[in-house]
Amino acid sequence: MRILPAASGSGIVFRRTDLDGYEIEAISPNVARVSYATSLMKKGVLISTTEHLLSAFIGLGIDNAVVELNNLELPILDGSAQPFVAMIQQAGIRKQRRARKYLKIRREVEMREGNKFIAVYPSDTYSVAYSINFPHPLIGKETFRVELTNGSYLRHIAAARTFGSREDEQAMRNMGLIRGASRDNCIVLTRDGVENGPLRFPDEFVRHKVLDLVGDLALLGKQILGNVVADRAGHAMHTALVSRILRDKTLWEEVTFPEASAEHEASSRAEAAASSSI
Ligand SMILES: [Zn+2]
Repeated sequence: MRILPAASGSGIVFRRTDLDGYEIEAISPNVARVSYATSLMKKGVLISTTEHLLSAFIGLGIDNAVVELNNLELPILDGSAQPFVAMIQQAGIRKQRRARKYLKIRREVEMREGNKFIAVYPSDTYSVAYSINFPHPLIGKETFRVELTNGSYLRHIAAARTFGSREDEQAMRNMGLIRGASRDNCIVLTRDGVENGPLRFPDEFVRHKVLDLVGDLALLGKQILGNVVADRAGHAMHTALVSRILRDKTLWEEVTFPEASAEHEASSRAEAAASSSI
């Protein structure tokens, strides 16, 4: 994987270098499949597991970048967004002149599916409150609230890793998934603990859900201004919320803050030696 600068207004675009540079924009109409991860597809060309990198872009305030891949799956690295954040910070971030356009929520949207819930409420900033209830002695009920401004993402969210159990792993391997998974790229849960501790945060699990949500909401194509509340949701509900918002233009308006023209691009040769997959 390689991240390149992009012109103002171009958004995040994935480029398959193994398929003549075929490009897929990181926007909701290209969402293909959501189960264990979020995938994009355009004319049969797939990009899988986009959420951690897109999350890092939002957390760093990157609006424009080209992401080259020589494969269909993004590198999983350590299962968090931290390696992407470090790589982008090392390459540098350039401020562009055009004012950033925000998608500002004007009316609430609530979606329910069984005991799963996701909603977004009007707000002048971007905040997330996520709750999970996972039947495991180390997890149970966890809620995490965060204001995604002023560096909070980098301090509290970016390093939270994905997690799974040995049983999940076997089931997913049987489906041909997560062939690159190992103890180095996710937290492995045992019946009553963690196989490869210590955790990076005592509530790392729910923080990772926030990380995933931020990455999936990046498919709005703009930074959002709203208060997002989620309870036991997942990639499918995250992306359903995105398409629901985009479908109804009375729910939001586009705003800019001319005094703080803060559109950014990822700058110059940020390269990660990519081996991949979960
Ligand atoms: Zn994840």
